[in-house]
Amino acid sequence: MPDAKPNPLFDISGKTALVTGSSRGLGRAIAEGLGDAGARLVINGRKAETVKRAADEMRAKGYEVLEAVFDVAVEEEVEGAFARFDAEGIEIDILVNNAGIQHRQLMVELKLADWQRVIDTNLTAAFLLGREAAKRMIPRGSGKVINIGSLTSDLARRTVTPYTVAKGGIKMLTKGMAAEWAEHGIQANAIGPGYMVTEMNEALLSDPEFDAWVKGRTPAKRWGQPDELVGAAVFLASPASTYVNGQLIFVDGGMISVL
Ligand code: NDP
Repeated sequence: MPDAKPNPLFDISGKTALVTGSSRGLGRAIAEGLGDAGARLVINGRKAETVKRAADEMRAKGYEVLEAVFDVAVEEEVEGAFARFDAEGIEIDILVNNAGIQHRQLMVELKLADWQRVIDTNLTAAFLLGREAAKRMIPRGSGKVINIGSLTSDLARRTVTPYTVAKGGIKMLTKGMAAEWAEHGIQANAIGPGYMVTEMNEALLSDPEFDAWVKGRTPAKRWGQPDELVGAAVFLASPASTYVNGQLIFVDGGMISVL
């Protein structure tokens, strides 16, 4: 048996990965995981000081990190960020559309502005960033797009309808990206996390009834940890997945598979 060595199929050294919403939570864990596989990182969020703090912490751990502060839901800001990348010679090889927000309310009480904000941040942003990234990946003949979906890409749930509509849209946006861009050497896939321990779920985590529901409903009998998404992200970002396209991979402790 030869000595174990890093498998080149999962090596993304020399690649640059932009992970949206990577100042904390799942985005931060995915970014660090891609960094561990060799990528240079571009991290993002809406607040300069939060992004800088995260970037400094990551640099202290040895990651090569650039900062990109912009709102993923605002077309001019997305276009401006990519124009800056062009001007600075930064080529995005791997795009992870991760930034997202939640809003809990029954539909009959929901304001249009809240519906729109959730759709814009969780779905339209992935189109905007995907479009800008693909314009640049297509001439190069390669690229990886990873969209973060959810269990609600496939399942409805009371009080979170705009979120489920956006995440359902992520599933079809991913297939649309694959349909148009696969011939240009680009793979577009999605990850559907189950219930994970992050700030987004703070209120749910501290609600004993909800906590018990998640543990009872998930075959793994526990919440997921952010770094449990890293394996799927590295797979989809690396040469290991060159013939995988348009797929949504659930990382959910088995929850989507059981009644
Ligand atoms: P968090 O709330 O912990 O983090 C969200 C990140 O997105 C932050 O970095 C936030 O930074 C950033 N962000 C939010 N809005 C914008 C915006 N308009 N522009 C730029 N950045 C933005 O969320 P999670 O880590 O839990 O979730 C990450 C993704 O995973 C989301 O798409 C979410 O829907 C999805 N997901 C999460 C699950 C979970 O259980 N946690 C389950 C399934 C899917 P800032 O606010 O400073 O801008």
